[in-house]
Amino acid sequence: MPTVEVVPQQDQIRARMITVKNPASGEQVAQVPVSSALDVQEAVARARRAGAGWRELSPKERAGYLLAARDWLVTHDQEVVEIICAETGKPRSEALLAEVFYGCDLLGFYAKRASKFLRDEPHSPGLLKTKRVYLRYAPLGVVGIISPWNYPFALTFGEVVPALLAGNAVILKPSEVTPLSGLLVERLWRECGLPDGLMQTLAGYGETGTALVDHCDAIAFTGSVATGKKVAQRAAARLIPVLLELGGKDPMIVLADADLERAANGAVWGAFSNAGQICISVERVYVEASAYEPFVAKVVEKTKRLRQGYHPEYGQIDVGAMIRPEQLDIVDSQVQEALAQGAKALTGGRRNEALAGLFYQPTVLVNVDHSMRIMREETFGPVLPIMRVRDAQEALRLANDSSYGLNASVWTRNKRLGQRLAAQVESGSVCVNDCLANYLALDVPFGGVKQSGLGRRHGLWGIRQFCQPQTVLVDRAGLKREPIWFPYTPRTARLLRRTMRLLFRRGIKGKLR
Ligand code: NAD
Repeated sequence: MPTVEVVPQQDQIRARMITVKNPASGEQVAQVPVSSALDVQEAVARARRAGAGWRELSPKERAGYLLAARDWLVTHDQEVVEIICAETGKPRSEALLAEVFYGCDLLGFYAKRASKFLRDEPHSPGLLKTKRVYLRYAPLGVVGIISPWNYPFALTFGEVVPALLAGNAVILKPSEVTPLSGLLVERLWRECGLPDGLMQTLAGYGETGTALVDHCDAIAFTGSVATGKKVAQRAAARLIPVLLELGGKDPMIVLADADLERAANGAVWGAFSNAGQICISVERVYVEASAYEPFVAKVVEKTKRLRQGYHPEYGQIDVGAMIRPEQLDIVDSQVQEALAQGAKALTGGRRNEALAGLFYQPTVLVNVDHSMRIMREETFGPVLPIMRVRDAQEALRLANDSSYGLNASVWTRNKRLGQRLAAQVESGSVCVNDCLANYLALDVPFGGVKQSGLGRRHGLWGIRQFCQPQTVLVDRAGLKREPIWFPYTPRTARLLRRTMRLLFRRGIKGKLR
């Protein structure tokens, strides 16, 4: 395990420490100091000073730092993978694809489009023909980013990159469960020569996050619905912008004509990758009656073949550990409750006692319905409940019977029908014959409807949400006095009314009265 440089400041030494453990083994990996509210306040002041010069750079100049960061990431990929795996217990292959590869792609994506996304936009002056108007995209100031633990690098870095590129300074508070990846993000930028104080990581619990909400100019929060609401309420008191990326309960609809081999492979990957700890995991499946038996048989057979554990090499493990003990308890309580209500586990159904760490057996449940929490609440673990439905309409009704609306998928050989159904699913994104993959399509926005969040990550939306649109109007004619300025005269009013008639009338005839 490579060492992570953590330099406690004087007052932090006296403060609480976070003990980071590898959930796959229970071993202690590191101790990290907790930042107090005062630390946050000081960090924001430092960030504000650093931001003053940064915002003056052109988008192209800022993009140069992103390309340097990409070089750093490509060079340090193994070290990054190791740190992520050490604090999450996930398979190396997953850390490489969804965190490091994703990070490189994101850096290149935004670096390439920096000027296009951030340049001043000329707009029509409308009737003000003697004026020029344009829109500039100014930074928000100091952006606070509060992150969860399931993708501790991708979900922190993914917000930091567009926030910085937009000209902001950034304070990141990673999850208390996985602070090392967040500290690594700070180290990466420091080693890429970013101005001192422009991007700082402060580790801590909820109180540190609260302090960010109290002092930053905007907040990008990724986490649970319950905490997201608290963050939004607190931010409302200061009227600062808040972006919320929250939970999901993503439905998968399998129609009778679907390619069942592909659908079953997709369901297993969509439900069990990252041990199901993905906001866009496949969390519930609705299968048309005639395809139900063969689909379930395939899913169970494939699930039983998954290799679970923790391994220091690539390609040896499919399903890793649960990252946080409390999450394992939530998953198990939902599963046991469903079993008690009549559900049946065709495979799995309990903690994997054969392994030392926090492992939950990949679980396939049938005989489930919407009276059960497992079909209504976010599970965020390796559980795949499958329900038989009469037809596509029933599947759609059940898919939309949720307070969440993050991602979804529809599986059918009839792509046109698939797209028609997709358009009726209430979610921020939806895939046809695929799942999760839309998160890697960086040009299109990602985010939720209903309780799954506000705001969008990725693409143009993902950077504009870190900007303050400023409208600029420039007079071109240079008259000593505009006709609409003082003094108001009867002649001006007559002129205005004539112009109105000329421009806006629809068949109104007659003289002006
Ligand atoms: P969480 O809400 O418990 O914590 C998220 C972050 O908020 C942590 O850093 C935590 O320390 C901080 N926090 C806690 N209380 C706070 C407060 N009062 N004020 C400010 N910050 C506070 O979520 P989690 O358990 O870390 O993450 C799991 C959740 O995240 C799941 O619901 C999952 O679906 C969601 N998630 C969403 C997305 C997305 O893009 N939509 C991505 C990943 C995870």
